[in-house]
Amino acid sequence: MDKAGKILIAGGGGFIGGHLVADFPRTGHSNIRVVDCKPLSEWYQVFPQVENVCADLRKLNACRAAVRDARYVYNLAADMGGMGFIETHKAECMLSVLISTHMLMASREASVERFFYSSSACVYAAEKQTSADVVPLRESDAYTAMPEDGYGWEKLFSERMCRHFTEDFGIQTRIARYHNVYGPHGTYDGGREKAPAAICRKVIAAKLCGSDEIEIWGDGNQTRSFMYIDDCIMGTRKIFESDESEPLNLGSDHLVTINRLVEIAEAIGGVKLKRVYNLAAPSGVRGRNSDNALITARLGWAPAISLETGLEQTYRWIYDQMTANGTEH
Ligand code: NAD
Repeated sequence: MDKAGKILIAGGGGFIGGHLVADFPRTGHSNIRVVDCKPLSEWYQVFPQVENVCADLRKLNACRAAVRDARYVYNLAADMGGMGFIETHKAECMLSVLISTHMLMASREASVERFFYSSSACVYAAEKQTSADVVPLRESDAYTAMPEDGYGWEKLFSERMCRHFTEDFGIQTRIARYHNVYGPHGTYDGGREKAPAAICRKVIAAKLCGSDEIEIWGDGNQTRSFMYIDDCIMGTRKIFESDESEPLNLGSDHLVTINRLVEIAEAIGGVKLKRVYNLAAPSGVRGRNSDNALITARLGWAPAISLETGLEQTYRWIYDQMTANGTEH
C-alpha cells in the first residue's frame, strides 16, 4: 500500500473500525478519512489527527463524498449486533445492503484501487452448524446457501456483489469472513453486544452487586470460536494487502462452549456463580468453528491469541467502563 494514498474507513466509529484506524499510524499511514453515521460522541475511539465525518452511508451521495480522493476503502459499516439483535432485526440487517451497494458503486465511480468488505461467519449454511461438536467451516461450505436469516443473507449477497464488481468493472476486492470478534472498545450492553462482552459484563455486574447468579442464553453447551481484536486487525490488513480475491475465514479455530467462556470470565473475576439458563433467549446455531487451512496456506498466518489472554484484556476494559460510569447492573 502506498503510504500517501488516502484510506477510507467506513464504520470507523464502531468496534473493529476504531481499532483499524488506531493501527494505521503504526505503519506510517496518516492520510485517513473515517466515516460513521453515529454522532462523534458515540464513536468508540476518535483520533483527532485523521478526518472524521458523520454521514449515513446508505445514501449514494454520502458514499460519493466519503470515497472522494480515496485510493483504498475498508467497508466495515453495517447495522449489526450480537444474536439478541440480529434475530430480532432481520429487515434492518438486510438494509445494510444499501451501504454495501452504494459503497461499491461510489468506489467504482471514483476509481478506488482496492475495496475491503467485512463479511461474516453468518454466511455459512445453517445445516452445517447443527451440532456442538461441529466440523470447522471451510470457505466452500457457504454453498449451497442457507445463511443466517437477514444478517447472513445480506453478507452473502454483498460478497457476491464484490466478486462481480471485480469481474465486470475491474475493482480489486478483498473479503474477510469474521468469526466472533471481541476485545476492548466495543459494545458490552444495550442489546447489540456479543457473547464475550455480555458474559464479562454479567460477571462484573454480579461481583459489583454481590449477586451469586449469572444468566446464560441457551443451555451453555452451544459452541463458538472467538477471535481477539488484535488478530482481527492484523488479519484484515494482511488480507487487504494479499492477492486473494476470494473470501477468507478470519477467526480463531479454538472451539469452546459458552459454559467454558463463562468459566474463563469467572476465573478472571475471581468468582464462581450459579448458572441460570434462559432457554427461551436467542442462542444462534448449535456450533460454529473456523477452518483456517485456506488462510494459513494463502497468508502463512492465522489468528493465535488465546481466549484467556484476550478475555482478560476485555474484562479489564469493561470493568473500567462499568465502574467509571457507575453502571453496576
Ligand atoms: P460495530 O457495530 O461496532 O461497527 C459498525 C459501525 O457501522 C457502527 O459504528 C455503526 O454506527 C456504523 N454504521 C451502521 N450503519 C451505518 C450507516 N448507514 N452509515 C455509516 N455508518 C454506519 O460492529 P463491528 O463489530 O465493528 O463490525 C464491523 C463489521 O464487521 C460489520 O460489517 C460487521 O457486520 C462485521 N462483522 C463483525 C463481527 C464481530 O464479531 N464483531 C463478526 C462478523 C462480521
